[in-house]
This record gives sequence, C-alpha cells and structure tokens, in this order.
Amino acid sequence: MSLFCCPICHAPLQTDGNTLRCPARHCFDIAAEGYCHLVPSSKMHAKIPGDSRDMVAARRRFLSAGFYEIFSDAINISAMQILNNNSHPVILDAGCGEGYYTARLGSFLRSKGLSPKAAGFDISKFAVKAAAKQDKQTEYAVASSFDIPAADHTFDFMMNVFAPIVPAEFARVLRPGGGLLIAVPSPRHLFGLKKVLYDTPYENETIDTAYDGFTFLERIPVRGELFTEDPQQIQALFMMTPYYWKTPVSGCERLKQCTALSTEIGFDLLIYRRTADDSF
Ligand SMILES: [Zn+2]
Repeated sequence: MSLFCCPICHAPLQTDGNTLRCPARHCFDIAAEGYCHLVPSSKMHAKIPGDSRDMVAARRRFLSAGFYEIFSDAINISAMQILNNNSHPVILDAGCGEGYYTARLGSFLRSKGLSPKAAGFDISKFAVKAAAKQDKQTEYAVASSFDIPAADHTFDFMMNVFAPIVPAEFARVLRPGGGLLIAVPSPRHLFGLKKVLYDTPYENETIDTAYDGFTFLERIPVRGELFTEDPQQIQALFMMTPYYWKTPVSGCERLKQCTALSTEIGFDLLIYRRTADDSF
C-alpha cells in the first residue's frame, strides 16, 4: 500500500500495475521513473508550478558537489535522535525538491540498522522526476504542502527544508508525538553571495518558531563556509536561491563576472514534537 492517499477522496491507494487506485476507482498513473502525480487538476494553479527543469538541474549539480553536505549530515543526526530507537519509522519530506536530503536521510537510517518507509513530495514535477530516478527506496509524488495526499497520523517524522510551512497540514499527517524538523536559513546564510548581488545586502530574518499543534524543542545552528572557483557552480547556487527572481540586472552581471565566491552558509534546524492530542 502507498504511503500516500487519494488526493480526491483521501482513501488509501493500492498499487495496480502501473497505477495507484483507491476504492472509489480514482486512478493515478505511476510514471516510468516511479513517481505519481497527486495534485487534482482542479487544484493546479500554474501550468508548470515550482522549480523548472533548468533550476532542478542546477540544484542537482550544486548539491551533488557536496557543498551542503554538512546540512544533510546534521539533519540525519537530528532525525535519528528524534526517532529515538523507532526501528521502523515512517518518514516524509515535505517539499523534497530533487530528493537530495530525502535520499541521504534514507541511506543514513538504513546504515544505522533502521528500516524506514519514506515518502517525499514536491510541487515541481521536474524535481520529483529527478528524485524518483535516483532514489528507488523512497516513494515520491507531485503534491502540495497545502493539501498533503496522506491520511491523518501517517508519519513518525517529517522534515521541511526551505519549503512552504503549513503547520495545520503537518500536524494532521504526523502522529501524536511525532517529530518535525524545519530547516530555515541562518541570518548570514549566503551573505557573501548577497554582497555580490546587492549594493546593501541584508541579513535573513529569524522566523518565529511557535506553531499550533507543536511543542518547540530546540534550534540547532549549523554553520559553514563555502568557497568555489567554478563559475558554473556559482550560477547553479544562484539559481537555487530566491534572489534568482528578484536581483536587479546589475547584480546578475556582477555575479556573471565572478570567478570565485566565498561565503558564509548556515541552516537553523528547528525541532518540534507534535502535541499528543488534537485539542489545539
Ligand atoms: Zn479516491
């Protein structure tokens, strides 16, 4: 049985050949790469939502070079602690992109003797396709955090790395007592990049940590330095950031001239436990 449920009627989905099917006979094709498209067409707001093919390729190029490995490693260690000896955890990556953190978490947990069942979704079809192609141990779907196609209380742990945060949906699909890890940029994450792009760079805001339905446990700062002399990687990094959409032409030109980039990088991992009841 799929970890996902029918996005139309929320009933369980069973694999039937190359499709996932619910008892009401709503049917969803499984693509050749192994993922499923679980956003009803009535809820598709843009023709091609989320990251484009080029943006996904840039992410993959940058992440597979290992620049953000320290963050992935820290996420894995935190997840292991939150799971607290649960040997068969059911886990979800909400907004998984091209699956870098998802796949590495699965491998890490298996290397520690755990048998996780993992799912990941993203609104970008290109991202999900890339994820499913490389990671056959995780079930991937095109889906939205605002309407997660999963039954109530399905997951023991979920993570969200720089993706939309929808606390009510997260609380719904997590079991009571389940763990939530949200990765957000630190105040000076990519400050060196912003110094090239903007005349007056600003620090990232620290976001509020309180969410209904969750007990906030801790903030884990992960800090590093990034240096590259590869102009292709500099552009790939730029394409992964929100600045790609809002940088003035002059800043983009300055970055194109850059032959080396040195910058602080930092994630804050925010760790939560879902409250034990639904009274919030
Ligand atoms: Zn259905």
